[in-house]
Amino acid sequence: MSDTQSTNAVAPILQVILRDAHPVSRRDISQNALRVLYRLREAGFQSYLVGGAVRDLLIGVIPKDFDVATDATPEQVKSLFRNCRLIGRRFRLAHVVFGREIIEVATFRAASSNDDDGNGDRKVHDDGRVLRDNIYGTIEEDAVRRDFTANALYYAIDDFSIRDYVGGYEDVLARRMRLIGDPETRYREDPVRMLRAVRLAAKLDFEIESATASPLPKLASLLSEAAPARLFEECLKLFLSGHAVASFEGLERHGLLAVLLPETAEALKANRSGALRRMVIAGLANTDARVARDEPVSPAFLFALLLWPAYCRALMALQGQGVHVTEAQRRAADRVTLHQTHIIALPRRFSVPMQEIWLLQPRFSQRKRVGRFMAHPRFRAAFDFLQLRQHASDEHAADIVYWRDEQLVHVAVNGGDGDAEFDSTSPDDIAAEEAAPRKRRRRRRSPAKTE
Ligand code: ATP
Ligand code: MG
Repeated sequence: MSDTQSTNAVAPILQVILRDAHPVSRRDISQNALRVLYRLREAGFQSYLVGGAVRDLLIGVIPKDFDVATDATPEQVKSLFRNCRLIGRRFRLAHVVFGREIIEVATFRAASSNDDDGNGDRKVHDDGRVLRDNIYGTIEEDAVRRDFTANALYYAIDDFSIRDYVGGYEDVLARRMRLIGDPETRYREDPVRMLRAVRLAAKLDFEIESATASPLPKLASLLSEAAPARLFEECLKLFLSGHAVASFEGLERHGLLAVLLPETAEALKANRSGALRRMVIAGLANTDARVARDEPVSPAFLFALLLWPAYCRALMALQGQGVHVTEAQRRAADRVTLHQTHIIALPRRFSVPMQEIWLLQPRFSQRKRVGRFMAHPRFRAAFDFLQLRQHASDEHAADIVYWRDEQLVHVAVNGGDGDAEFDSTSPDDIAAEEAAPRKRRRRRRSPAKTE
């Protein structure tokens, strides 16, 4: 690794943890990953399971996916597997596809990239951010370009040992997130690592080690330079993977919420009773419970919840200026959406139903055209949202009872299975729509404003 190109001056020191000294067993590794590992080795290449999977297996968590690292080039990998496709423009990765399971095979590379998507040859910004990278390297170089020590462990298929170049084994056992190298440098290279620190600590129930945690409040503002589309993806991982409450609290604690969701953070600060925060936490706890039960969750509902404090605040301000309530609601929804999408690229297919959930809220205090309202595609989501609002205020109790009863009557009259739209629960509704985006475009509520 040349000095001009390296921003991470860590000297790798190899420790080998032999098979009988660690708990990672082939029984817990996917058959497909094992096939890939063995095939590479048989062809004479180095072949390791790497990253989150090794970390998760060490602490008894079932890995989400299995990544492989090798000294074979992507083209060499491709020649070994018929079911292989290469992705990425400059830095290429091999995906070996087994039905729904994809094993990602990456060639060792020498330096970090800002987005880890493998797009590009390495360039460093004046402020230390790495823009692109395409340099293949050795396993040592591959280890030190990773983010956290816990993510840089290599399980060798030839002797089932774990190779640790950065002290990650000890950190995993002590349940510590520690950046490899100088934390400030590594955050500047890629500010999304700040979110990854919080997310992985929440997911794994790890502590963020103090030198890794302490720069966070100071550097938080760098997040606003990250690509909004990437921040959207990261938010889904933060809040829809079953650890939303812990992630939210972590973001607050480390000063990141104020950059990621600035208007919400301000609104929560201004809400002295803490009612809005209670509502957000209760909603996130619901989301976590749904994920734990393997029920679908929806980004539209999630963002309706996360941005509700901001929406309420904007609405109050507009009404304070004398804007009529209906107009104020529409404008507050558009304004909050517009401001937020500069930071997090919330696609329209989520922001439109998110706004509908907000704009339907006042409808629950009107007890008219009942059937028609209940047939609204967003009725269930809006009703679930109303129930969450009870955590902030008990003024909706009577409306909740009324609309719950009306739904029971409706189910009784329709025999409980006659009306598919009504029967499905809200996040399922939205999740189903999101999975299969509608061909027919919805009429725009507010032209182009939220894009
Ligand atoms: P998860 O359980 O959420 O999948 P993970 O650690 O596997 O966690 P991935 O996003 O799948 O996270 O990344 C795979 C590996 O790639 C990581 O374990 C880490 O070694 C490396 N990596 C990912 N993102 C970065 C980054 N921004 N900077 C450096 N290395 C990264
Ligand atoms: Mg992973």
